Amino acid sequence: MKIILARSAGFCFGVKRAVNMAFQAAESAGHICSLGPLIHSPQLVARLEGEGIRVVNSVESMTDETVIIRSHGVTRDEEECLRRKQLPIVDATCPFVKKAQEYAELLGREGYSVVIVGEAEHPEVQGIVSYVQAPSVFVVADVADVRALRVGKKVGLVAQTTQAYENFHAIAQELIGRCKELRIFNTICDATAVRQNEAREVAAVVDVMLVIGGHNSANTNRLARICSDIQPKTYHIETASEIDNGWLDGVKTVGLTAGASTPEWIISEVVEKLKELAK
Ligand code: SF4
Repeated sequence: MKIILARSAGFCFGVKRAVNMAFQAAESAGHICSLGPLIHSPQLVARLEGEGIRVVNSVESMTDETVIIRSHGVTRDEEECLRRKQLPIVDATCPFVKKAQEYAELLGREGYSVVIVGEAEHPEVQGIVSYVQAPSVFVVADVADVRALRVGKKVGLVAQTTQAYENFHAIAQELIGRCKELRIFNTICDATAVRQNEAREVAAVVDVMLVIGGHNSANTNRLARICSDIQPKTYHIETASEIDNGWLDGVKTVGLTAGASTPEWIISEVVEKLKELAK
């Protein structure tokens, strides 16, 4: 049985950086916590807990600990609250997310209505929104949302880093006709698109596709949906133990990919198990 592993499967730059910063902090600081799970991988969160990094759900419940800010950042209020409490901060906000926050802030300061393309409930988007001081800031998911907006003459546009470029482009096109000036910062990070394109390529040439990552990971779930549209025999697994040997009966080629929050060691365990089964 041949195994094809997508080239960029697993951690993106921002997640890798955040995880490394967390392990380094665990070595040097005493009490550590992260505001929400550091990444959507229960196995990695358990490992971090073993290193003394606990997960807390609100800034208010933090006491004397060092706080790790996750790769998708926090809101301005949360950050100010941490600073008021004078808690040591390890800021693992991905630099691409920081850029989106900075551009949104700049647009607001310069008097633009700020439109953010993204999921309103996502912590990254809530963080970006919090940096805008303009009276009008809008989060839109698609072109239909834009049609319902009343924007000013000057409109600024940014995106949640994981948005699809096509959607961002369509929204920009819609906005052009609705204002006098449109200023666009393309804040999309290509890690998501690269993983999705590679997953499509692999799923198209295999008999079975395995997508590895947290069942609570939105980007892994999206990869699994993309793959199952191409290869109906697609299975979303969190670890090697979830592989059902029956899936591989008569299979000549199996494809693998993994979400941006899937640790390398979990991918390796899946590869090893497949090699065992192939013997
Ligand atoms: S997907 Fe992109 S923006 Fe988000 S954490 Fe990874 S590298 Fe940073």
